Amino acid sequence: MEQPLIKDGRRVDGRAFDEMRPIRIEVGVLKRADGSCYFELGDNKVIAAVYGPRELHPRHYQDAKRAIIQYRYNMAPFSVDERKRPGPDRRSIEISKVSREALEPVIMTEFYPRTTIDIFVEVLQSDAGTRTAGINAASVALADAGIPMRGLVSAIAVGKVDGEIVLDLNAIEDNYGDADMPVAMIAKTNTITMIQMDGKMTREEIQKGLEIAKNACRKIYQMQREALISKYSEEIE
Ligand code: UDP
Repeated sequence: MEQPLIKDGRRVDGRAFDEMRPIRIEVGVLKRADGSCYFELGDNKVIAAVYGPRELHPRHYQDAKRAIIQYRYNMAPFSVDERKRPGPDRRSIEISKVSREALEPVIMTEFYPRTTIDIFVEVLQSDAGTRTAGINAASVALADAGIPMRGLVSAIAVGKVDGEIVLDLNAIEDNYGDADMPVAMIAKTNTITMIQMDGKMTREEIQKGLEIAKNACRKIYQMQREALISKYSEEIE
């Protein structure tokens, strides 16, 4: 990259180091899903659909003590600059696994033995940060489906760009930066449920990044809560 990623204390898109991209949340956007959510994070646009709890087939996959969670992250072929070949690949299988694990701790699966709760995340447009956008959307969609949860999970990436610790990397920063660290947490209790890292950061940089991510997750949590409350208060009215 010939252009600097940081100039006069500002990033390529003009943001401050600890500034997130704008977020928009819409709850209950799909008629056939039990719960759904549309989530925008800057130029990332994702939709999450939740189905269940419903009986799991084949039966030998059932757990007699709890519901199992299935999570499918999928990127639409038109969601990226260079057409993505449709269907699962190594990246989407990995993202599906870590996203499921990020959400499992809050879902009260013990209430629904022998069932499955299926979460589908479709990426319509991407600009880095789709896994975190997907987790945020899925968390709201689970609540919209009426599934009992211990809290909402909120997620955002932090990273290192031109030696600076920055919040919520866009695609240019992700491609040409030094490190990217997506984090998911239960903001209410400060419990981290997912942390990944691509690149290198020192222990101090990771600590600083986590602090910034924690503050951002708290803000996202408030927005998720408000989106749910506003949908359901409208329905009651
Ligand atoms: N990307 C792409 N083609 C792909 C995979 C990713 O263009 O096949 C882009 C896309 O914009 C994505 C970004 O690279 O958002 C960063 O991808 P990463 O694997 O870091 O996941 P994300 O940040 O989206 O969770």
